[in-house]
Amino acid sequence: MKKKLALKFPRHLVSEPITYRLVKDYDLIVNIIKAKITPYEEGRLDLEVSGEKDAINRGMNYLNRIGVEVKPLIQEIKWNPERCNHCTVCVPLCPVGAFSVNEKERVVSFNDEKCIACGICVQACPYRAIEIIF
Ligand code: SF4
Ligand code: SF4
Repeated sequence: MKKKLALKFPRHLVSEPITYRLVKDYDLIVNIIKAKITPYEEGRLDLEVSGEKDAINRGMNYLNRIGVEVKPLIQEIKWNPERCNHCTVCVPLCPVGAFSVNEKERVVSFNDEKCIACGICVQACPYRAIEIIF
């Protein structure tokens, strides 16, 4: 199974090798989606974790035990083509090119396989054509 998680950890854990432990001790595949780790400050880390259900649960227990706050990250982004006005606002904002525009026809399309569910486009869409599914 796969889980997208938002981790928040206190200052004293900033130097803890959290991703290393999840991989090495809990046999998980870890993909870092976003990280903000500054020395002497609270850290934030968005991860996609894959592995056996038990391994994921044990990994989550480890994080809770050491004091990391774990919340589910956005699971999926849903694009509603009927609401989309093809304004192209979302196209340059997407860090992975999940939205693209056909230059000739000026039509926007969405490739959900590229989307990493960062959520940037959701707030930006003036027509509320993009929705977060938790
Ligand atoms: S949620 Fe992020 S990755 Fe997905 S389409 Fe929007 S901007 Fe791109
Ligand atoms: S910002 Fe919204 S309305 Fe504009 S192209 Fe993107 S999805 Fe469509």
